[in-house]
Amino acid sequence: MNQESTNRVWTLNEIMDLYHSPLLDLVYRAAQVHREHHNPREVQISTLLSIKTGGCPEDCAYCPQAARYHTDIDKNDLLSVKEVKMAAMNAKETGSSRLCMGAAWRNVKEGKDFDHVLDLIRTVNELDMEVCCTLGMVTKRQAEQLASAGLYAYNHNLDTSEEYYKEIISTRGYEDRLETIDNVRSAKLTVCSGGIIGMGEAVEDRCKMLLTLASLDPQPESVPVNALVPVEGTPLEEQQIVSIWDMVRMIATTRIVMPRTTVRLSAGRTQMSQEGQALCFMAGAGSIFAGDKLLTTPNPERSEDLQLFDILGLQATPAFAKGERPQGKPDLVYSDREAAPKWSRPGHVIDKNIEYTEKGKQQRKASSSTPKK
Ligand code: SF4
Repeated sequence: MNQESTNRVWTLNEIMDLYHSPLLDLVYRAAQVHREHHNPREVQISTLLSIKTGGCPEDCAYCPQAARYHTDIDKNDLLSVKEVKMAAMNAKETGSSRLCMGAAWRNVKEGKDFDHVLDLIRTVNELDMEVCCTLGMVTKRQAEQLASAGLYAYNHNLDTSEEYYKEIISTRGYEDRLETIDNVRSAKLTVCSGGIIGMGEAVEDRCKMLLTLASLDPQPESVPVNALVPVEGTPLEEQQIVSIWDMVRMIATTRIVMPRTTVRLSAGRTQMSQEGQALCFMAGAGSIFAGDKLLTTPNPERSEDLQLFDILGLQATPAFAKGERPQGKPDLVYSDREAAPKWSRPGHVIDKNIEYTEKGKQQRKASSSTPKK
């Protein structure tokens, strides 16, 4: 079921004031809001599965899957139905009620790969799991096809504020992101959209992103809050690990401004202590991603999560606790091919990536082996 319409209108100043309020007051208020709208004993366990890894033409500065960066990831083409079914069954057996399938694409293109993804969705939906996909930009028609196959949610993160976005990605515009979210919403899919902190953005950027998300009507059903995991070979490889206090503030503020949304404590958990994660749950996080990898970056072992659930008295949220399971409908068949959508490439410059060419890499290696004073 999609979110109810949200009447509360937030301003940037109000969100900034919340974010900067004394930490324990902020957590207390967020915990109250959380208890009003959610079962605080339940946390959803989701599994993120990379169904097509690496070789992405985009230039997201945090992402090891961008083809232009020299990172150490195992690339793979689209996984087979059998492989995905096995992974989904394994995830379900170990407590996950949602499978999120990610493909390193700029946008969805009609054709055999998209048809294959539709098959994957049908397969996982039949296992009685919530199916989420993150495949890049989608048109309204593609979103409708995904919904018809039994997709429950579509993930498309805003990542950061509109202003700071330009520092992180030059191969598509913020308006493309919003358009995809709009297409997903019109197809009556649930919306999953959040961001990443620790990319060098200001607190104002974090709050502006929350303002944009909170101003969507209805608000997204899911908002993932990620802490950057700096990966060697990406432009953000030298970023400082985000502090747990920033993460708690971000989760608590998200919780308050989007009261009915599931706030997902996402990437960066290996950098957090169990006590830190407990504070995030207190502040309103209602979901974690399980499995030793989040697409390509490390994640806590499942056994560690179960131990933490045990300590905190938490239980895993069952599938479809907040909405009905989509009934797979017959394929939407179109007699024509959709006109290629006009996604933007706003002033795409790759200057900042030049140092990530082979030549740049050699130069960086040489300079890092020079003793520093
Ligand atoms: S975040 Fe997604 S779109 Fe961006 S480079 Fe990585 S795989 Fe491509």
